[in-house]
Amino acid sequence: MACAALVGAAPLQAVHAHEGHETHEHHGDHEAHAAHEHGVATLRVVSADTVLMIEFASPLDNLVGFEHEPRTDEQRKAMADAERLLRDGAGLFRPSAGAECLLLGVKLDSPWPQDGHHEHRHGHDEAHEAGGDDGHADLEAEYRFECATPDRLKVLQTRLFDTFPRLRELRAERATASGQGSAALTPGKADLPL
Ligand SMILES: [Zn+2]
Repeated sequence: MACAALVGAAPLQAVHAHEGHETHEHHGDHEAHAAHEHGVATLRVVSADTVLMIEFASPLDNLVGFEHEPRTDEQRKAMADAERLLRDGAGLFRPSAGAECLLLGVKLDSPWPQDGHHEHRHGHDEAHEAGGDDGHADLEAEYRFECATPDRLKVLQTRLFDTFPRLRELRAERATASGQGSAALTPGKADLPL
């Protein structure tokens, strides 16, 4: 009933918000968007041969404490700080030392990028409007590691909870040589067995 009332009151806004979300779905990441819950973020870890990929998706609120376009210098600084911290993939994620993994690349998809490195090439304005209109916004980051000894990849230590104290739970999925699995990580249990 609430949805019908919203559509009746503001059909254009509702359509825009929906389109904004769809621009992100080509990542195959609909679950993260469907489960936009403050304090909770998702992590996907996939390893194949020497490549280790990590995808992190989070409500922006977990990272900066708001979900609208930054309006003040303080908010712009908070966004820039979050981007800087998220680009430090080697600091946020520590694969088993014996696997000798090196961070090769980081992609950030922020709704309001502060550093001019925006890789997301389409749907900018719609996505931005949608972020403001429905009162929520997400940020996604992707990390690519190359591991010299992948059969020694046993665990992934995460520093996300120390770095972003508003984050309370990380819902993690993994697909590695040892199979698939999922785990709920918390500040007291921040390591993902691989
Ligand atoms: Zn939100």
